[in-house]
Amino acid sequence: MNENIIEEKVDIQKLKSLDKKYYLHPTTSIHQQQENGPTVIFKEGQGIYLTDVYDDVYIDGLSSLWNVNIGHGRQEMVDAVSTQMGRLAYSSSFQGFSHDPVICLSQKIATMTPGDLNVSFFTSGGSESNETAFKLIRNYWKLKGEAERTKIIGLNRGYHGITMGATSATGIAQFQNMSTANAPDFLHAKAFQLDCELGDKSNPNYRESIRGIIEKEGADTIAAVILEPVQGAGGINIPPDGYLQAVRQLCDEYGILMIADEVITGFGRTGEMFGVNNWGVVPDVLTVAKGITSGYIQLGAVIIRETIRDELAELSSDIFFHGFTYSGHPTACAAALKNIEIVENENLVVNAKNMEAEILKGFKYLESKHPTVSKIRAIGLMGAFELFADRANEVPFEPSQMVAQKVVQECMKRKLIVRPVIFEGSNIITIAPPLITNKEQIGTIIEILSEALTVVEKELI
Ligand code: PLP
Repeated sequence: MNENIIEEKVDIQKLKSLDKKYYLHPTTSIHQQQENGPTVIFKEGQGIYLTDVYDDVYIDGLSSLWNVNIGHGRQEMVDAVSTQMGRLAYSSSFQGFSHDPVICLSQKIATMTPGDLNVSFFTSGGSESNETAFKLIRNYWKLKGEAERTKIIGLNRGYHGITMGATSATGIAQFQNMSTANAPDFLHAKAFQLDCELGDKSNPNYRESIRGIIEKEGADTIAAVILEPVQGAGGINIPPDGYLQAVRQLCDEYGILMIADEVITGFGRTGEMFGVNNWGVVPDVLTVAKGITSGYIQLGAVIIRETIRDELAELSSDIFFHGFTYSGHPTACAAALKNIEIVENENLVVNAKNMEAEILKGFKYLESKHPTVSKIRAIGLMGAFELFADRANEVPFEPSQMVAQKVVQECMKRKLIVRPVIFEGSNIITIAPPLITNKEQIGTIIEILSEALTVVEKELI
């Protein structure tokens, strides 16, 4: 008997009990963690695979949290980060201080973003980026003498993060209900009401559309509209063609700023460098995080149009009283530069576009083989399908049946990580594997999904 194995097993048990005792997990049932301990303890990652402490190898079908786009274990990233840490691990960007990684990254981003979205402010993640966008925009309106423009309109099922403003902008009840009080002046419109946004007042959803809300509240009270070009956490919801353009036009009509939250879609996920490029739209503010470093180090950014920066400079010589200790973190910026180089050199955006057809082909197969599967969709390397008790009539399963969760559990047994979306009675299965994923690997993901669906459907039908 190998003593090391026994030793390791003891350690795993110890790790599990220490996790239970000392670690409060994000977006996890505290009750379940206290009952069962951690779901999996990972120890390493390579490519699209993660290995746990028992040496079981999983396909990372969600790029961890939609972020490990270049895949795990990239030595180039380790080298870039370690070199920068050795040179200058950290220095501040307050008081106008600067350093070459943040300057180079700002310039690089400007060459990639559409239109004159050329000026970057850095944060440590998506929530901070959106929070910054809200404050910056409100400050902008105040300086322009329109301080009453405070309201932000988000969309139902939009997800923007978990800080106070970002949660308040989020259109998913579970996140909003977590706290007893959210930030004021956040409103939510029904998503994707293209006809209404184009001005069709006869549509019964008109009052709940962005346009309807602007008219009801008064345009001079609205600071901005925020939306994801493709909703991610809300279930991978792709807007109809023309929708983003219609929102852009609507914002222009009323002089309202448009924020595109590209925390998931930015840096190639949808088969374009930015999600808005799919529809040729240039927002006023674009927020990013996740894919900017592929998660190797935490970093986010708020990218604003040059004209807005120029106006801010013109309107006030006072300090911009907003900055995080880690705004423009040199090591995080070095990680972003290397990550972007990899995305470009390996043509990962093109790969994402090419894999869209593979995902759709696989989902069509699932739809033909499994009577519960419907509403398949994909854009680039993000895709979803929904499960119904009666798909012809879109009759959902009872929430107590926990259908999506069961499918995900069966996938986990087969070493595939995917995510269920179960808001408002829906049973959506979402996938977003790394941008390096190839055709064969998509095929494996589809096979495992099919096996999982077979098991769950047998139980249900
Ligand atoms: N915006 C979108 C679209 C996201 O998907 C997320 C996270 O999933 C966020 C914002 C929040 O980002 P973070 O978790 O880095 O704060």
